[in-house]
Amino acid sequence: MSVVDVDLAGAVEGAAAHLYVWSLKDIPQDLRDALADASERETSVTGRRVLSTILRNVEVADTERNLVCQDTGIAVYTCRVGERFPLHPARIYEALKAGTERATLEHPLRSNAVHTITRENTGPNTGHRLPIVHWEFVPDWDGLDVKCVPKGSGSENMSFLKMCVPADGVRGIKQFVLESIVGAGGKPCPPGIVGVGIGGSADYAMYLAKEAIARPIGTRNPDRHVAQLEDELFELLNETGIGPMGLGGDVTVLQCHVEHADTHMTLNPVAVNYQCWAARRATAHVSASGDVEYDREA
Ligand code: SF4
Repeated sequence: MSVVDVDLAGAVEGAAAHLYVWSLKDIPQDLRDALADASERETSVTGRRVLSTILRNVEVADTERNLVCQDTGIAVYTCRVGERFPLHPARIYEALKAGTERATLEHPLRSNAVHTITRENTGPNTGHRLPIVHWEFVPDWDGLDVKCVPKGSGSENMSFLKMCVPADGVRGIKQFVLESIVGAGGKPCPPGIVGVGIGGSADYAMYLAKEAIARPIGTRNPDRHVAQLEDELFELLNETGIGPMGLGGDVTVLQCHVEHADTHMTLNPVAVNYQCWAARRATAHVSASGDVEYDREA
């Protein structure tokens, strides 16, 4: 490994360690605004009470520099790697893993990772194929963006996939999303962000749903057909009356984001991934020379 590699690996490890803890404590402004807005438009007394407790929770986390929720989740990173970034993705993965372990041990954070059969703890939030990393490769660029989205189990357990058929059309997509969210009720700690992935294949649709929850709240898909579906689902889901924490009310979701991929002419996959009100995310931009800039809003 060259000196450049060593320095960059250290920078990426440090960025991962910082991102994991930071994202758990300091939620983005768009989420703060969405929660405050939800509290304004909620009309149910219980719903307003729940939302004011959530806002107070965020305030206490800020003042005490503490976590917004005890469930530190699974660390999920999305990496956008420039084609000229001088550290190979295999080494980036090692650095992200080391950073996750460091954050868990040094803070310390609860270690949630277990073997899926034996349920034995596998270490400081790492294990076989943990943390989870999604990759995107960017041509003509020498930088690296790392976004950390810790995913709590309450909301991750409320993930659903249906292989609709083309004849089901957009109506079938909406019906499945609606049924999923109504079935989930208060379990995913609403109000949160509903991520929907449509098209591609079964696995890719769920990947897209996960991408959708990591977008800043209220951003719209650049495809106008998809953006229209986002608007319609947002309205529809808030008519369910599930409300904050499932206790009834007007605000069931803060937003609905949809990501799409073109698909086979006989396929129509739909995936739903829920992100709870503690929709934590934070990003680091790493330059080819190892400089790191942090961005809470990306
Ligand atoms: S679902 Fe979210 S808010 Fe609920 S316990 Fe898990 S991390 Fe916390």
